[in-house]
Amino acid sequence: MKKHNFSAGPCILPKEVMQKAAEAVVELDGIGLSLIEISHRSKEFVAIMENARALALELLGLEGKGYQALFLQGGASTQFLMAAFNLLDKKAGYVNTGTWSQKSIKEAKLIGEIIEVASSQDQNFNYIPKGYAIPSDLDYLHLTSNNTIFGTQIKKFPKTDVPLVCDMSSDIFSRQMDFSKFDLIYAGAQKNMGPAGTTLVVIKENILGKVSRQIPSMLDYKVHVSKDSMFNTPPVFAVYVSMLTMQWLKDLGGIAAIEEINERKANLIYSEIELNPVFSGFAAKEDRSIMNATFNITDDSLKEIFDEKCKEAGINGINGHRSVGGYRASMYNALPLESVGVLVDIMSDLEKKG
Ligand code: PMP
Repeated sequence: MKKHNFSAGPCILPKEVMQKAAEAVVELDGIGLSLIEISHRSKEFVAIMENARALALELLGLEGKGYQALFLQGGASTQFLMAAFNLLDKKAGYVNTGTWSQKSIKEAKLIGEIIEVASSQDQNFNYIPKGYAIPSDLDYLHLTSNNTIFGTQIKKFPKTDVPLVCDMSSDIFSRQMDFSKFDLIYAGAQKNMGPAGTTLVVIKENILGKVSRQIPSMLDYKVHVSKDSMFNTPPVFAVYVSMLTMQWLKDLGGIAAIEEINERKANLIYSEIELNPVFSGFAAKEDRSIMNATFNITDDSLKEIFDEKCKEAGINGINGHRSVGGYRASMYNALPLESVGVLVDIMSDLEKKG
């Protein structure tokens, strides 16, 4: 039975990527050996790492602009700490837009002084704060571009001379923007890029070396840059599959092409949520995420039928996060428009029943 995979992450990846990844586990490109049994120093894997690093910069439009791409381990959660370790000298600012922002604040507080420049906690994070003041003496301002749990997304980034650090774990490679306004971008692979196990870090080289503390090697961006992202054994499978997914995206036409499809998917579900009285959206309209649509059912008596219909249709992974409840349809890059259509048809049928 065909499944429609709305999982929030790890999540759907392109079918052809998974096919190629499966083949490479048995034998990589006719070399008589598996991807996962060769040395990471072999010419085959070195080429994969180089290609993955180059593709990341190419897709983001950052080649030749002083940036380095790294594929590290420890998830985006390690980046909460690592960003502060490498960049926080005196004081950093954080915008608190939900669970992941809060976790990044908690880790950075271990390193130095943090000020929360804005927060949307007063309304359970259903909107993105705007128009807040950004002190000019911050070492950096930390943002979360897409709030996976609450389904909000920053549409307009603040204008500031303070260096910008952004957790793009759940919307990397999904929409066009000028990525050169960020000094550090990080994203766990397991949404739009690949399987869990690696984290993309894109860093502007000239922002490094400004803090005086000693940094443990594994947490030091400079060490990883100097070793071409091969300071220690990299997560070879996760890097390979990320490379395949980035190649898939490039072949499709890059971020511009996928953004158009992502907007169509988002428009389809949000217009249903708006028009159908059986459902209500969680996030403020102007801040709604094109990746994660969060919504509730207004008539509890229809919940059982809705869940049953979704199950019958092969819909997977639409339960909301435990901190929000309701439903969350995650529509990452590899999710076809058709899958959103299947979900929206069920929602629309439910209105007729209600
Ligand atoms: N930031 C965001 C926006 C996320 O969605 C997640 C995971 N869902 C994380 C950080 C944490 O990532 P990881 O599990 O890779 O540490």
